[in-house]
Amino acid sequence: MTDTRPDRLTLALSKGRILDATLPLLAAAGITPEVDPDSSRKLVFETNHPGLRLLVIRASDVPTFVAYGAADIGIAGKDVLIEHGGADLYEPLDLGIAKCRLMTAGLPGAMEAASHRPLRVATKYVETTRAHFARLGRQVEIIKLYGSMELAPIVGLADVIVDLVDSGNTLRANGLEPFDLIEQISARLVVNKAAQKMKHAAIDELIDLFGGPAAQQRAS
Ligand code: AMP
Repeated sequence: MTDTRPDRLTLALSKGRILDATLPLLAAAGITPEVDPDSSRKLVFETNHPGLRLLVIRASDVPTFVAYGAADIGIAGKDVLIEHGGADLYEPLDLGIAKCRLMTAGLPGAMEAASHRPLRVATKYVETTRAHFARLGRQVEIIKLYGSMELAPIVGLADVIVDLVDSGNTLRANGLEPFDLIEQISARLVVNKAAQKMKHAAIDELIDLFGGPAAQQRAS
């Protein structure tokens, strides 16, 4: 349930790579979870900061928890925020962590091979993909997947994929190459709009803890 006390904050964290990059930021800000979220099955964590508790949830659910006020603040990838739409959230801070690129990729020559027909695209970013190809005026058939996108072109399920690329190792290991950049991605702090009004002092304090010159340097 939403905690309406002005000095109590619930922060939703994305499991996986973003959590791994966020825990050192929390530590640097002097915030320690009661137990290590990386090795616990708990979903809610109190911290040494009496005004702050953490939720550790699936990355794609963070905008929903924050938009509905189940969490006051969240840390989510820009990829997830673009796909969510984001109009119902404030996004005050680029944390400059978990940086990568949202790209199209496929087997060499895949785009040209499909030039006479709608391009089949496998992705979990259905809305972002639709908008990207609409901007290009390219007809697409989108196949929604929940993981292992790289497999789709190899087994002929799709011509190309839209997915996150960091080092490029996963693409290379599967004989795929990156094509077009859709968006530069990093993790962002998002805030529930009502909480920003009712709990602004506590939220601004947390933004200050995460933000400042260190965040600007990471984000640049
Ligand atoms: P890489 O092999 O380093 O290019 O990483 C690519 C794989 O890691 C893909 O399966 C991506 O979906 C995933 N990935 C890369 N960067 C991120 C990120 N910042 N957040 C979540 N997943 C990522």
